[in-house]
Amino acid sequence: MTKLAGKVALVSGASRGIGKAIALKLAEEGASLYLVADETETELRTACSECGERHDAVDARYGIMELSEVDAGVRMVAACLEEFGRLDVLVNNAGVRRRGRFGEFTQDDYEFVQAVNIRTPFFASQAALPAMREQGGGRIINITSQMGSVAFDDLALYGMSKAALIYLTRAISFDWARDGIRANCVSPGPIATQYNIDRLANDRAMWDKLERGTTVGRLGAPHEVAEAVCFLATCETDFIQGHDLVVDGGWTSH
Ligand code: NAP
Repeated sequence: MTKLAGKVALVSGASRGIGKAIALKLAEEGASLYLVADETETELRTACSECGERHDAVDARYGIMELSEVDAGVRMVAACLEEFGRLDVLVNNAGVRRRGRFGEFTQDDYEFVQAVNIRTPFFASQAALPAMREQGGGRIINITSQMGSVAFDDLALYGMSKAALIYLTRAISFDWARDGIRANCVSPGPIATQYNIDRLANDRAMWDKLERGTTVGRLGAPHEVAEAVCFLATCETDFIQGHDLVVDGGWTSH
């Protein structure tokens, strides 16, 4: 029996990597999907068809949006509501990294990373609240990072934005849990997405460092993060609130 039949989930950054794995997993549970990305329309369209193949009841549609734009969060939610008339699960997954040692970042780096990683989830979550409350509840799941809790090479700007997203999750839960809104986040550790596999193809030292940072001695897979998101999207208890579900192979445990 599927747990999300009749429900609608919006997943940002769903054209590849973790976001696509989340979309496929929620589709398996029967959710209809509104998927968002910016430059990867072909991949997004493929993700929609693959979601449709997971379950007969799934209606998967997509929108193209640059999520660093100032009103992107509001537009993304409005587009989903226009397409489906409801929104049950908002997954703020899209995220960007600009790397550098603290001292080297530009104003542009700062604005861009904060815009995509925190401003858009902030305003998308605010925009989702009225519809979710009217429906009697909803779930907001933010994809953060273990780098929101621990520092790592060249990730000051990224880690700061993820720490803010963890805090935002708790703040939403604090203000709205009694109105049926369940806000939680998932913090992945290093994940072997295609992007990371390509990026680290010629940097075996960094790959080894990432593996050694975990206690399981390997990078995670996108579907392992999706499992955690699916659990938060489908679990029946509303007592799991403002939680940071860490899926990091043990990285932050030592
Ligand atoms: P990814 O492979 O880089 O994919 C990012 C997705 O977000 C793509 O669909 C991309 O589509 C979309 N996106 C990025 N910037 C966008 C923008 N400005 N406007 C619209 N869409 C945008 O990412 P990932 O590695 O799967 O990571 C997904 C989430 O998990 C991120 O929040 C990331 O911070 C977090 N995370 C990842 C890891 C990891 O090891 N991979 C670890 C911890 C946390 P377009 O290219 O079309 O824009």
